Amino acid sequence: MSFAPRRQTVTTRVGDVAVGSLHPVVVQSMTNTDTADAAATATQILELVRAGSQLVRITVNNEDAAAAVPEIVDRVRGEGCSAPIIGDFHYNGHLLLTRFPACARALDKYRINPGNVGGKRRDENFRTIVQTAIEQGKPVRIGVNWGSLDQDLLTQMMDTNASRAEPLDAKDVYIEAMIESALRSAELAEQTGLGHDRIILSAKVSGVPDLVDVYRRLAQRCDYPLHLGLTEAGLGVKGIVASAAGLAVLLSEGIGDTIRVSLTPRPNGDRTEEVLVAQQILQSLQLRHFTPQVTACPGCGRTTSTFFQQMAEDIQVYLRERMPQWRQGRRGVEEMKVAVMGCVVNGPGESKHANIGISLPGTFEEPKAPVYVDGKLVTTLRGERIVEEFLVILESYVATRYPAANGSARVDPQP
Ligand code: SF4
Repeated sequence: MSFAPRRQTVTTRVGDVAVGSLHPVVVQSMTNTDTADAAATATQILELVRAGSQLVRITVNNEDAAAAVPEIVDRVRGEGCSAPIIGDFHYNGHLLLTRFPACARALDKYRINPGNVGGKRRDENFRTIVQTAIEQGKPVRIGVNWGSLDQDLLTQMMDTNASRAEPLDAKDVYIEAMIESALRSAELAEQTGLGHDRIILSAKVSGVPDLVDVYRRLAQRCDYPLHLGLTEAGLGVKGIVASAAGLAVLLSEGIGDTIRVSLTPRPNGDRTEEVLVAQQILQSLQLRHFTPQVTACPGCGRTTSTFFQQMAEDIQVYLRERMPQWRQGRRGVEEMKVAVMGCVVNGPGESKHANIGISLPGTFEEPKAPVYVDGKLVTTLRGERIVEEFLVILESYVATRYPAANGSARVDPQP
């Protein structure tokens, strides 16, 4: 199956990152620290960037947060990190950006929710934010959200619909209202003087079929880059699967220029999980490559010990930990495929399809583990040190197959 070509868009530059159809789909994330706590927020931004987030959004919800933004950006830049930092504004963005010019300067992009820029003075407040963006040379994301849709616009469209001879379904009107809100706001931003190539749009909902519907329609009506994501994707498996299901459909149709997976973390959970999930969605669709992939069988009654699961886990972790160094000079290593299989039924076959693969002995099989490199059996491992010996072979393969371009990458296995 081949995917549709990317939908053609303009390119919007956010700091050093280009977003649009001529560029790879960008992974982004959002902090959940109190922005007023500059140290904690800067630390989390760095964690997200190290995990692979190319853009990081922070909420700027009050004066303390706005005052902390310059320090946050200084701290992050002081660590040698140039990832663009985006301010998320609701209700008082026009006030904060005006009263805290250093905050407006320090951020790389502003996110505006047109449903949350004020009641009667909505257009005026919206224009104030856009005017600041123009003066500071920043792009904006106009981010419409299902949970905070412009109620005046929705009421007006519902009334118009009710007066039709054949009214549309209420959900249809809701989705149309989201699209209208995004497009009208973009039009107002351009009328205010913001460049056409300084705008990114999003229209987030929490259900997968609605997400697909709204973005398909939005994609047909504009050439702005689109930011994809379920809003409030949810916890754990549900959030991951729902995000993957929705984003996969749209990305396979060429829709989407930047993505975020809005997972609810477990208490004290790792915020970087959302970055890894976003990367994995793009890598599973073969739209981008971030880290070597392990093909592991699920195991079954032929693998009754935990040795096989542990080995698959150890190798996946090993690859992830080695990747930051490999990435510096070993071009193409992120596309490497590693197979870790539980027994002889599919083990040798799957191993032959991978760059490098190992097939472990299943229960009642002879205790040996054949290793295949580029489809050929190169050795058979035995004994207690199968994992360590396999990793030595893996490192040797990486050193040969993906030679260091500048000699900067280490080739020795980690202890
Ligand atoms: S490869 Fe072997 S252990 Fe793995 S699922 Fe298939 S039969 Fe079971």
